[in-house]
Amino acid sequence: MTEAPAPYAVHVDQVHKRFQDNHVLKGISLHARPGEVLSIIGASGSGKSTLLRCINHLVVPDQGEIHIGHEVLRSRHNRRGEAITADPKLLEKVRARLGMVFQNFNLWSHRSVIENVMEGPVHVKGIASQQARQYAHELLTKVGLEHKADAYPNELSGGQQQRVAIARALAMDPEVLLFDEPTSALDPEMVGEVLRVIRALAQEGRTMILVTHEMRFARDVSNQVFFMHNGVIEENGAPERLFTQPQSVRLQQFLSPCV
Ligand code: ADP
Ligand code: MG
Repeated sequence: MTEAPAPYAVHVDQVHKRFQDNHVLKGISLHARPGEVLSIIGASGSGKSTLLRCINHLVVPDQGEIHIGHEVLRSRHNRRGEAITADPKLLEKVRARLGMVFQNFNLWSHRSVIENVMEGPVHVKGIASQQARQYAHELLTKVGLEHKADAYPNELSGGQQQRVAIARALAMDPEVLLFDEPTSALDPEMVGEVLRVIRALAQEGRTMILVTHEMRFARDVSNQVFFMHNGVIEENGAPERLFTQPQSVRLQQFLSPCV
C-alpha cells in the first residue's frame, strides 16, 4: 500500500528552546505545504536562526516536534538534562532531504567549486564521481557559474560563493531548502544576483523557508511571512496583507523604517 502524501513538507509543532536562562523559542509552530515559500522576518536576536536550525536539529529543541513529510524528529534529554535528538539514524535520513544555505557560505576553502558541489552526492549519497561531476556542472550552469568550476572559493566574490553554496545544497536534491540570511554578508551590488537565483528556485516550485532582511523580496516570493519577536511568532500572514496592514504594534515599528 502506498502512503498518502503528507499534507506538509515541513511542520514545526510547538517548539521551545532555551540556552541556559534565555528562553529563545517559546512554542513556535508553522508549516509549509509542498511548493510553498515561507519567509521569517524579525529583529536581530528574535530567534530566527535558532528556529531554522531546529528544523534540521542543528539545534535540538527542548520541546516540540519537527515533521518533515511523514518523518518526525523528536528530542529526548540525556542524563545532564541536555536536549538531544531522539533517533540519530532518522535524523541522518531526514537531513539528506533538507538543504541549508548559511549567511557565510561555509564552502570548503581547500576544495574547488566543482568539488564543493560534488562532495555531498559522492560522500553522503554514494553517487559515482563521474555522475556527480556531470550533475554539478548542470547546477553550476543553473546558478551562472559553470566557468568557475575549477576556481577556489577565495577566488570568487561573495555573491559567487553564495551561488556555489546554493548549487551545493541543490546537489543533494533536497525536498526543502532552508536559507539563513543568504544575502546579509554580501556587498549591496551582489545581493541581486543571489536573490535572482533564489527567486528562480521559488518559481520552480521548491519548498523553501527563508530568513531574510530583504523585505521587498520576502513580499514578492513568499506565500506566507512570519514576524518573530522575542521567541514568538508575533504575526503571520500573506505578504500583501502583512506588509500593508500590519496589526501588531511591534511589526508596525519593525516595518516603519522600510516605508
Ligand atoms: P536571530 O537569528 O533572530 O538574530 P538567534 O536565533 O541567532 O536570533 O538568537 C536568539 C537568541 O539566542 C540570542 O539571544 C542569542 O544570543 C541566543 N543564542 C543563539 N544561539 C545560541 C547558542 N548556541 N548558545 C547560547 N545562546 C544562543
Ligand atoms: Mg540569525
